[in-house]
Amino acid sequence: MSVSDNTDNDVPGGVYLCQVNGLVSCGACCGLYNVTTPSFAALMEMLTWRTETFARLPRDIDSILAFKEDLEVREQQKRPFSEFHHCPYIGLVGRKRSRVGCLLHPLAHGNQGIDFRGLSFYGGMACSVYFCPSHYRLPAVFKEIVCEAARDWYLYGLVITETEMLRAFFQDVERRIKRPITREDMLENGKCLEAVREFLELKLYWPFRINSVKGLCNYFFTDKLYPLPTVDYEAIGESTSRYDVILRGLGSHFDSENELRSAENLLDGLIDKLASNISPLRFRPIRIGFGGGDDVCAQDSHS
Ligand code: SF4
Ligand code: SF4
Repeated sequence: MSVSDNTDNDVPGGVYLCQVNGLVSCGACCGLYNVTTPSFAALMEMLTWRTETFARLPRDIDSILAFKEDLEVREQQKRPFSEFHHCPYIGLVGRKRSRVGCLLHPLAHGNQGIDFRGLSFYGGMACSVYFCPSHYRLPAVFKEIVCEAARDWYLYGLVITETEMLRAFFQDVERRIKRPITREDMLENGKCLEAVREFLELKLYWPFRINSVKGLCNYFFTDKLYPLPTVDYEAIGESTSRYDVILRGLGSHFDSENELRSAENLLDGLIDKLASNISPLRFRPIRIGFGGGDDVCAQDSHS
């Protein structure tokens, strides 16, 4: 199994999250998911048309601006988050066009090293220096685990901006194993990565998701124009849930206390599964005292 190395000291937080490998990348801050139908099939159709059309385009200012005008006539312009810009220049990149990326980037096919991002809504500077809150606020090890567990750009881009949800999930695992998670625990442990993947996939298949695009697309900018919806616990006679942060990240709605319990049990199961697959060899029992008694305690081998 290959472990991708996305550590980069020039990036805030030390792990580069935007382009991970040939299949995994993100375009969330370019507004990729801010569309009325954010399904994989619909996004692929949109991105494929853009990429193929852009590939035939002369690289001059008029043609690049005309591409945007044509596209805005061709594509539905209604946005779930009206003030979250959806960039027409997000497309498919890489030799096999197997991940999302910026068609105006100097390294994108056909641009011959020229940076055309200055023609975009945000401008070249903003596009090149922006890093979302997950870069700053997620511990490096959590970021590396998500990068390694992710299999495709679609799901990765939906979850990597869910800073609080990811942090809460991994912290719950740490509480179960009573110590911090390390890279060694997870990055080459297929069963652990599989359990993380199951958790990430809840974003797609969560049975308690609010029936709304907003439960899928995340507005993560710090201006808080569109805060995460809260869960209405009162409506089912509850005060809160121990998994409230995760439930909000998944965009949850419950019709009964039973539904809430089912959701909590599901999360319990995943957290237990991940915790139980972390190698017990990393807990080395040591003897306390000199008398040859039976007292032992668990100690992380790193401490
Ligand atoms: S949302 Fe974050 S990870 Fe995604 S492209 Fe933007 S800065 Fe990169
Ligand atoms: S121009 Fe900026 S906002 Fe548009 S796709 Fe490129 S990086 Fe994203």
